[in-house]
Amino acid sequence: MKIIASNFKTNHTRKTTNSFITNLNDFLQSTNINNEVYIFPPATALDSFDTVSNLSIGVQNGYFTKNGSFTGEIGTDQIEEFGIKTILIGHSERRHILGEDQKTIALKYNYYKALGYKIIYCIGEPLEVKQSGLTETLGYIWEQFDGIDLNYENLILAYEPVWAIGTGISATIEDIATIHKKIKKKISKPLLYGGSVKLANIQEILNIPNVDGTLIGTASWQIDDFKEMCKITNNIN
Ligand code: PEP
Repeated sequence: MKIIASNFKTNHTRKTTNSFITNLNDFLQSTNINNEVYIFPPATALDSFDTVSNLSIGVQNGYFTKNGSFTGEIGTDQIEEFGIKTILIGHSERRHILGEDQKTIALKYNYYKALGYKIIYCIGEPLEVKQSGLTETLGYIWEQFDGIDLNYENLILAYEPVWAIGTGISATIEDIATIHKKIKKKISKPLLYGGSVKLANIQEILNIPNVDGTLIGTASWQIDDFKEMCKITNNIN
């Protein structure tokens, strides 16, 4: 059973998130699609959504605290107000644009792990690393596991090469197959691929060995496209 996840990033309002999730939930219910589906809305749009059991709402980020003085951040008091127990950690935009280092990421990981959250943990190399070769790429990825307990039962991994995120250019089938095989050999956790997944390529990507699902940004923000990708994901089972 494949997994499909949508990262809204800094897109959608409270109003449009609500109609997206309501529409998606009705669709999943009426079509009997039973894949694991995750939606990560912006923090301002979090709410207590009444969803089917296979649709989970998660946070794109959370600080390693219950509450306190961390201006601009949210902690578990704010997250759990809505019954949310799913978090995205290590996304490349947080690593490379917001400047989160591995030490901070590991602190977050361990905090949310101790609370039993489902964690989608992202890894992936920038273009210059990819261009230096497979050994360097794998070395870079392994370092992104520093301080991360890979035996954690509620862990899902997402391989997202930085150069493929939001660029419209997905990694090639061969690249995905190679990296996923290497990661899976070391870590037996569900492994998603992310990086310009869209209607035109999702089926092909889901059929690659060791790809357990997809994490989608840009192409998931339109409800009709996302529903179509849920259908395709369901048909791969
Ligand atoms: C992402 O944000 O995790 C992502 C993969 O984005 P996009 O699909 O836009 O490349």
